[in-house]
Amino acid sequence: MNIARILYPVKTLGPGNRVGIWVCGCPRRCRGCANPELWERRPEFEITVDRLREVISGIAAGRQIDGFTVSGGEPMAQPEDLGALVRYLGTVSEDILVYSGFEYGELMKQDSEIIRSVLTSIAVLIDGRYVEKLNKDIILRGSENQNVIILNERFRAKYENYLEITRNQIQNFTTADGVVSVGIHNKDFKSKIRSKIRG
Ligand code: SF4
Repeated sequence: MNIARILYPVKTLGPGNRVGIWVCGCPRRCRGCANPELWERRPEFEITVDRLREVISGIAAGRQIDGFTVSGGEPMAQPEDLGALVRYLGTVSEDILVYSGFEYGELMKQDSEIIRSVLTSIAVLIDGRYVEKLNKDIILRGSENQNVIILNERFRAKYENYLEITRNQIQNFTTADGVVSVGIHNKDFKSKIRSKIRG
């Protein structure tokens, strides 16, 4: 699987202390995408799902994992590996939230058994491409056209409560590649950062 980063504890993309997993590779190319550096798959980011399991079980050892958030990049562009990953994640926590630039209907139209199986194994899908002019700083959604789709009814109350009481925040992680800013960003966040750097 092509994975750019795994971070913990992510507190800004779903309830609780989550493991955030960012895949690399996205065919959608949305204007204003917060993660254009993740559009192209990179050979150095290839990792087997078995190795991913080891990394995640290392994170889980002695730590509270309230759920997983899988983003990118486009997770559904690597369906077989995503399916295997999601099967493993479910053994740690069934609160699995996946972002996709494809709408739920588009995913179902692909008529792929593995994608259907992913959709029946996760708690929440946030679907649809990012539309910059529809970025209205809505909790969990990059833009207003996207939908929060609860796929596991056991998580409905948890997420409805979360969506009601939570406001978007940004978390910064220092990684080997520099600072990674995690959360739903305002559409002008990049220009604001550039102007701050220019001073
Ligand atoms: S689908 Fe997501 S990762 Fe892909 S270009 Fe759009 S916003 Fe970026």
